Amino acid sequence: MPSIHRITSAVAGTPVNAYVVEGERDVVVVDGTLTVSGGRAVRQRVIDTGKRLSAVVLTHSHPDHYGGIVEVVAGSDVPIVAAPGVDEVIRRDDSLKEGILRPMFGDEWPRERAFPTELAHDGAELTFGDIQLELRDLGPGESHHDTIWLLDGGATVFSGDQAYNHMHCYLADGHWKEWLGNIESLAADLRPDAVLHVGHGEPAGLDLLAWQRGYIERFVEAVRSADWSNEDRAKADVTAAMGTYLPSEDLRFLMELSIEPVATGLGVWSSDVRPGV
Ligand SMILES: [Zn+2]
Repeated sequence: MPSIHRITSAVAGTPVNAYVVEGERDVVVVDGTLTVSGGRAVRQRVIDTGKRLSAVVLTHSHPDHYGGIVEVVAGSDVPIVAAPGVDEVIRRDDSLKEGILRPMFGDEWPRERAFPTELAHDGAELTFGDIQLELRDLGPGESHHDTIWLLDGGATVFSGDQAYNHMHCYLADGHWKEWLGNIESLAADLRPDAVLHVGHGEPAGLDLLAWQRGYIERFVEAVRSADWSNEDRAKADVTAAMGTYLPSEDLRFLMELSIEPVATGLGVWSSDVRPGV
């Protein structure tokens, strides 16, 4: 059975995981972190195994998962595998992400990014040397396009950001209803003893899905019930409510970035209509 190594990049208070799956002869990397240093750390972990890197697979379309891949593959022709929807969103949004992330992360956000080179569809069972992974394509959810990868017949799940392990969450892509639907399907379909190797935080059991559902519901309710006649107070109230649900600073800025988009999506606030102005 392959062993799993978790590599965390935590540049600028932004912890994100990538994984090295080590088989007898081969190694597969899941996600690449956001940063140059994160990608290099993954690359080094691969080198330390002394085994062949057979593929990099991607869970979803967010830059904190694909940005560092360019450093992981380091100019080699190792295939980078993703679902078509993940590939599409990355290519579509990469220049937008450049504009957001460069000022935040400077040179830690790679100057060039590597994109998927091979596509895989829902249910595909892929063999990379002596490592086999199965793809589940979930569609929109936490990001504009999410997938998960199953190893060991589903006992091990690389679940991307389907559930954060007790860190604040990003809901700004606006698909929270679909995300709740995906959580419900995963809770029903995954093996009850499956271990989720998550994008942010420690591995966990399926009970983490219930925590994630609670976070999303609490956030949406806080945004909906805030008094948007005073925008600043509304935002402060949402932030306070989420601080009560999760008294942690981890990735709080992702949650704060999500308040306006979700408020707009719910129709409780609009950037063009400012009461009293
Ligand atoms: Zn993430």
